[in-house]
Amino acid sequence: MNLILRAHHLLCIQGYQGKGYNDEFVNNMTKITNTLKNNINTKIKIISKTDFICSKCPNNIGNGLCKSEIKVNSLDTKTIKLLELKENKTYTYKEILNTIKEKLTLEKFEYICKNCEWFKYGYCKKGLFK
Ligand code: SF4
Repeated sequence: MNLILRAHHLLCIQGYQGKGYNDEFVNNMTKITNTLKNNINTKIKIISKTDFICSKCPNNIGNGLCKSEIKVNSLDTKTIKLLELKENKTYTYKEILNTIKEKLTLEKFEYICKNCEWFKYGYCKKGLFK
């Protein structure tokens, strides 16, 4: 199965704890994270608009946009830049994991994610720097 994910969701996935906006969102996100966990050769196309995770999110307003598009798009842009990824390119999840390990520092993580509503819970930091 090939996935399409917006760039900052590569980071969200690492700290995912089964929590989300509603049951439909959680079921979908759990399915996606399990797909990746079970096969690190899963291919992922990186984008910066609504993706497979957004597809079941109550904040998805259609036409490729999130209700908080300006904010989340900035997370995508920063993730792409700081992890030196290419938008619209397809990577294996293994390549993504290696990239996160090699390129993401605590400073970069805080710069990208500090304004996200999930940042304060610490799940992401724990998952990314375990
Ligand atoms: S909040 Fe926005 S970016 Fe995040 S999953 Fe929902 S629609 Fe996608």
